[in-house]
Amino acid sequence: AAKLAGRGRYIAFQPTMKRDFLRRQRLIDDLRRSIGNDELFLLYQPIVDIRTARTKGFEALLRWRHPELGLISPGEFIPLAETSGQIAAIGAWVIETACRQAATWPGHLFVAVNVSARQFADASLLEHVRARLVANGLEGRRLAIEITESMLIDNDSTALSVLHELKALGCRIALDDFGTGYASLSYLTRFPFDKLKIDQSFIRAQNDKDSAAIVSMICALGTRLGLEIVAEGIETEAQRLLVEAMGCQLGQGYMFDRPLAIGATHARLAREEEAQAAGRTGPFFAP
Ligand code: C2E
Ligand code: MG
Ligand code: MG
Ligand code: MG
Repeated sequence: AAKLAGRGRYIAFQPTMKRDFLRRQRLIDDLRRSIGNDELFLLYQPIVDIRTARTKGFEALLRWRHPELGLISPGEFIPLAETSGQIAAIGAWVIETACRQAATWPGHLFVAVNVSARQFADASLLEHVRARLVANGLEGRRLAIEITESMLIDNDSTALSVLHELKALGCRIALDDFGTGYASLSYLTRFPFDKLKIDQSFIRAQNDKDSAAIVSMICALGTRLGLEIVAEGIETEAQRLLVEAMGCQLGQGYMFDRPLAIGATHARLAREEEAQAAGRTGPFFAP
């Protein structure tokens, strides 16, 4: 009977494996046409002052509207773009689009762009960033590059020199999803970071004493190192209050806003302007 059950499971499992494999193959093929077919677009999630909720910048988040399969999340297609050698082209499109659209915002706002490890291996990345900044009249300090810990572990010395050259352009460097990887703390002093983004898993688990201790430790450490701290995934006022009390300056999450289409970013900024003009700047300005 045990043998039968085992075989039964095996037979039942196989079709899903095949289906997943076929979907991945299809996405890899279709991704090649996505840029030319105008299927990629960026959403922008506000990164705000944790006390006032005023917008300080936006993180560009990539989306793919597949003509038959609908909206596909970056969590699914970015890894496929990386393994199939398409991440350089897609990453270049993201930087180009983000720089062009960020140039439509007031000059004090930044745009943060996610750059994956494989993109850093691409020699043309730096030249592309420089060219897009110049072409759009965007000051380097208005572009933040978000990288993850895994990138530092994978290609240590290349990563370091590219990061220094990005800094020379004025760009800010943010360490994303901090606390979830396996990087040692010495990376924080060896790499030229400006910001630390605390991973949302720690914020979500804020009722858990251990997670709260980690968030508080990251805030203290980051502050001592002169880094700006961003808390990701803030969904509730309780979470906002907690990270504010721990010394975190910036926040991002559904509580403030979801990722927005470029037009909606302008509407949000206009609402903020109005509120400011009307004197509604109170301790916690809800947009
Ligand atoms: P990330 O850089 O850590 O981005 C934050 C993710 O958290 C986004 O998911 C965002 O929509 C989500 N999020 C924001 N606030 C909340 C919240 O309050 N609650 C919850 N539950 N989630 C929240 P998204 O857009 O699906 O992106 C997932 C990941 O895909 C990103 O994580 C990033 O690593 C990657 N990614 C996105 N765009 C790009 C891109 O252009 N290039 C590369 N290389 N990776 C990208
Ligand atoms: Mg990010
Ligand atoms: Mg993150
Ligand atoms: Mg992430």
